[in-house]
Amino acid sequence: FLKGKTALITGSTSGIGAGYAKALAAEGASVMVNGFGDAEEIESLRQELEALSGAKAAYSDADMTKPEEIRQMCSDCAEQLGTVDILINNAGIQFVAPVDEFPEDKWNAIMDIIMNSAFHATKAVVPGMKDKGWGRIINTGSMHSKVASPFKSAYNAAKHGLDGFGKTVALEVATHGITVNTISPGYTWTPLVEGQIPNTMEVRGLTREQVINDVLLAPQPTKEFVQIEQIAALAIFLCKDEARSITGSNISIDGGWTAQ
Ligand code: NAD
Repeated sequence: FLKGKTALITGSTSGIGAGYAKALAAEGASVMVNGFGDAEEIESLRQELEALSGAKAAYSDADMTKPEEIRQMCSDCAEQLGTVDILINNAGIQFVAPVDEFPEDKWNAIMDIIMNSAFHATKAVVPGMKDKGWGRIINTGSMHSKVASPFKSAYNAAKHGLDGFGKTVALEVATHGITVNTISPGYTWTPLVEGQIPNTMEVRGLTREQVINDVLLAPQPTKEFVQIEQIAALAIFLCKDEARSITGSNISIDGGWTAQ
């Protein structure tokens, strides 16, 4: 149902972002992916997206800490695939430290990549969406856009800020056929998470099951990781016409984390 539409997803060379890209391509959208990584792997993801969609897929290596590169990415997308109909602000990094020891460069990088990049990309694509009278902007939040955990001051501040930004834009564009929502996943099964398990087993002297249930999933009531495909399916729903009244929302998909 997205044939003829163009989607731009920041931070989509791996994990949740790549999941959004595949789901959107499978619905026929042209997709521009963005992020860092191995050039061959990125090219094979791009080819996979073209095979899924039967439409074009493109890649931008824009660094989300650089406003000029973000604007360039948006105009490259318009030139190569078409003006952006669906923007997913998804790029993110994490850094964990007590606030009085938090490195300033890490604070700034997290704010730039998670929150400020969403401003620059949204600002660049909203005029085109208004012209068409249709648009979908989705921000990847987190349970940490609603509640906090210690030692993640920058991440939690950036994700709360991203949610506030999304609500504001939702109000501004509400009469233009454009919706703006935040999807807030709990702990999600990505290669990054999987990679932590063997090391944590060794360091803490625990079994794989103990690491998963008692360490990683301790605050996630379902004791199950959220799956990338579940998050992507929610994004697809938000792109449907039936979802046009859902705007300014922050939708949890967190196994009950924020119900506590
Ligand atoms: P990931 O590390 O697999 O993906 C992050 C993506 O961002 C990668 O493509 C990376 O190249 C890109 N990126 C990083 N810095 C960048 C920069 N400066 N410019 C451009 N791209 C950059 O992580 P993920 O788990 O898929 O996370 C995706 C989003 O989901 C993030 O916003 C994260 O905060 C959020 N999230 C993840 C979880 C989880 O448990 N994995 C839970 C809640 C929210």
